[in-house]
Amino acid sequence: MVAEALVKVPFYSGGRYLREQFPFRVFKIAIDAGFTCPNRDGRVGYGGCTYCSNTSFSPNSRDDHGTLLQQIGDGMQFYRERLQGEKFIVYFQAYTNTYGSVERLRELYDGVMGFPDVVGLSIGTRPDCVPDPVLDLLAEYAKRTHVWLELGLESSHAPTLRRLNRRHTYAQFVDAVQRAQDRALTVCAHVILGLPMESHAMMLQTANRLARLNTKGLKLHHLYVAKGTRLERQYSQGNVRVLTLREYVGLACDFLERTPPDVVVQRLTGEVAEPHVVAPHWGVTKLQVLHLICEEFRRRGTRQGSRVEEANSRQQSAFSRDAQ
Ligand code: SF4
Repeated sequence: MVAEALVKVPFYSGGRYLREQFPFRVFKIAIDAGFTCPNRDGRVGYGGCTYCSNTSFSPNSRDDHGTLLQQIGDGMQFYRERLQGEKFIVYFQAYTNTYGSVERLRELYDGVMGFPDVVGLSIGTRPDCVPDPVLDLLAEYAKRTHVWLELGLESSHAPTLRRLNRRHTYAQFVDAVQRAQDRALTVCAHVILGLPMESHAMMLQTANRLARLNTKGLKLHHLYVAKGTRLERQYSQGNVRVLTLREYVGLACDFLERTPPDVVVQRLTGEVAEPHVVAPHWGVTKLQVLHLICEEFRRRGTRQGSRVEEANSRQQSAFSRDAQ
């Protein structure tokens, strides 16, 4: 958020969104609430997604965090001391954060909302793990606080989802989004660029499909290979390549050009803990990636949403066809 404030960005940044929503400085505290994942424990699959390494993408990995209270307390202290944070949104990040009974979820959300200065919840989960009672529960909270439902899609293409061992379909994602929207919940979609065997056209098709689904938030990042994952094995066998920084910058701009201008771009590059990563090693900070994306937009003379109508008019395909 601070990084975004330093440059005028040609997209609707998460920082700008928070400044518009709240009259005080709001930061997101990512927590690990102790969930597992139905794609790990056998409910829908074993072993998880091929790239999954919560240690690498969760700052509060379960090896080094304390209780929920400690995590939130530490997060608040960090943002207050370093960045003059005033209020906080608690982001349930690690694993699948709706994988539990409604009673357990309610207890957790009530506990978190009981913290002074917590002004919202952001719940990261899988699209096949949001049954109606869970959405009803989130809708209850959304009436009295700020709520984002973050759904991992990664790709809208069946062969890619199979290759990644995601074990859910695009149709399930569409269904989850529609049921969430029926309850006026705000959905943020997660997408990874540079997935194995995905062509440029396939990635842009995912952008166009999301634009038509009317999701309100986007988290975008590049594929990276984390240590100890199945993806690492595939990478070391030469079956997977990763994007160069230049490729990612171009793709991110292509994707955002096809993303409606009112979609909040909440992430534009992965939160990667370097020691856990095999590839790529771009040797740049998040802020530098952001600058390069802005520079590329300037060079093209475009911005987020520049090509939405063009994309939609080219693709009048039926909604049902997308959901295959
Ligand atoms: S759904 Fe998320 S937590 Fe579960 S295996 Fe895939 S990436 Fe990991």
